[in-house]
Amino acid sequence: MSSAPLTGRRAFVTGGSRGIGAEIVRRLAAEGAAVAFTYSASSAHADKLVGELTSNGATVLAIQADAADREQSIAAVERAAAELGGLDIVVNNAAVAHIAPIDDFPAEEFDRLVNINIGSMYWTTRTAVKHLGDGARIINIGSINADRIPGPGLSVYGMTKGAVASFTRGLARDLGDRGITVNNVQPGPIDTDANPDQGDFAESLKAVTTQGRYGHTTDVASFVSFLAGPESGYITGANLNVDGGFTV
Ligand code: NDP
Repeated sequence: MSSAPLTGRRAFVTGGSRGIGAEIVRRLAAEGAAVAFTYSASSAHADKLVGELTSNGATVLAIQADAADREQSIAAVERAAAELGGLDIVVNNAAVAHIAPIDDFPAEEFDRLVNINIGSMYWTTRTAVKHLGDGARIINIGSINADRIPGPGLSVYGMTKGAVASFTRGLARDLGDRGITVNNVQPGPIDTDANPDQGDFAESLKAVTTQGRYGHTTDVASFVSFLAGPESGYITGANLNVDGGFTV
């Protein structure tokens, strides 16, 4: 096996400027893939990541596209496919959370979560499918909250991540005859801006894991890179936890 198993592959990652998405971009690029990724508003983190990776010789493209917006999601995929000359790997990572009980959940937050966590995944995938060759990889980033809700206020977020799991199963059936695999990686608590390991809920979440700690973005990215690679071809339609034992 080459030390750069993704050489020649072209990847598209949503929400790649920070957190888990940025680490996935880093890892795929380090393994030889050309990578396009999206971010939402400020380009500061995206520019820094592009600078870091291009100085290492990688081909990396940052695209501003609000995942809440259908047209921007579609246009981002089309631009990535045009500039990279096609796509082989799609990682649907962009998502947002809002924690509130159902009777106090703002309507605009409900729409935002559904549009980003579900809508972006659907429009990105639907647009990307026509650019994918046989044997391509689609990797969705769901959440352990599809399977386990450790406290109140997470019903809407959990609902969107349940949709990721179901979409993954259906899509694996739709695309199986092209040798395209579709998997859902479900992180447990991972230290990022969205869920810092010193945040308000951190201690209670650590207590649910078997090791009493948060995971690192690299724990998720290394697994995503395996799923993106040539040795994962018989894994598809699976919901795969990287969660420190959150559900055991
Ligand atoms: P972060 O908030 O740290 O990073 C989110 C990334 O998504 C950023 O790059 C951000 O870009 C981008 N993004 C957010 N909203 C949009 C938007 N509207 N349009 C385009 N890009 C957007 O999140 P995490 O890294 O923690 O989470 C990544 C994934 O992992 C999500 O799917 C999340 O649900 C999942 N997950 C995370 C867990 C955790 O504990 N951290 C646990 C379980 C699942 P920008 O810089 O422009 O804001």
